[in-house]
Amino acid sequence: MSTDQIFQKDQENSNIVRNVNELRAKVKDWQGDGLQVGLVPTMGGIHAGHLSLVHKSAEIADRTVASIFVNPTQFAPHEDLESYPRDENADASALTAAGADLIFCPSATEMYPEGFQTSISVNTVSTGLCGTSRPHFFGGVATVVCKLLNQCGPDMALFGEKDYQQLLVIRRMTQDLDMPVEIVGAPIIREKDGLAMSSRNVYLSAEERRVATTLNQEMSKAIALLAGGNDVPFCIAGLRAKLLENGFTDIDYLEVRNGHDLTPITSGSVRKLESPRLFAAAQLGRTRLIDNMAIFKE
Ligand code: AMP
Repeated sequence: MSTDQIFQKDQENSNIVRNVNELRAKVKDWQGDGLQVGLVPTMGGIHAGHLSLVHKSAEIADRTVASIFVNPTQFAPHEDLESYPRDENADASALTAAGADLIFCPSATEMYPEGFQTSISVNTVSTGLCGTSRPHFFGGVATVVCKLLNQCGPDMALFGEKDYQQLLVIRRMTQDLDMPVEIVGAPIIREKDGLAMSSRNVYLSAEERRVATTLNQEMSKAIALLAGGNDVPFCIAGLRAKLLENGFTDIDYLEVRNGHDLTPITSGSVRKLESPRLFAAAQLGRTRLIDNMAIFKE
């Protein structure tokens, strides 16, 4: 997009800011007036899951900033950085209609100017689950979220439990680095048939979409078995077999872990354990789906 086109677009969407100074000035003004500011970081491809975070922020904070930035450092070279859904106008309008007061859309050079060389690594909680097949991922996420928090200086920042490990990585980072922000988690928003909403669901063909819905359904059945006291390996093996039978092309992981710190639970029953959670990542053609569910009602 040319500079003229960006300028014209920004005239139409006067709540879009593109550089850190403008963002800081606005947030400082609000906080100077005693208002609490919530930040909702997104990569665009806006759906009802993102909007639920904006709604929640509008409930618990006085002003909401939503960011749209497709962060290159969390994609591996073979991943979908180029094809990731991008429609800034539609995304900014949807976020604004949901209650965002300001949309921060930095360019890649605003975020990573020449000479940039720092990265944040959060150790234990980033290992396993998505950290195994996407070893670059949590470093990229932690670094960009750290930057967004420093740039915006919100009182709170909201993240979805859809990316549960990411939520815990960010909680750990903000605690470890004494960042003065409250991290608020929010429940997974699902399609009517149970599929967790995701910007990447648009990649699914009609047939894949039909298979995709069985991830949540089979996980729910496995959870009933786990909650009933069946051994973890038995339930996981059954779930794996069922998903492959249904048409998933590969299973990245199916694991039960403690929902507070992600300690793996690999044997026995979960009946007497605190906050066990089932985590899944499965491949359907070119699309990788993730989901997670608490085994006992929280
Ligand atoms: P993304 O744009 O995928 O980076 O997601 C931005 C934020 O939206 C993250 O905090 C995600 O966890 C959250 N999110 C994505 N999908 C959902 C969903 N289905 N339900 C709730 N939150 C979600």
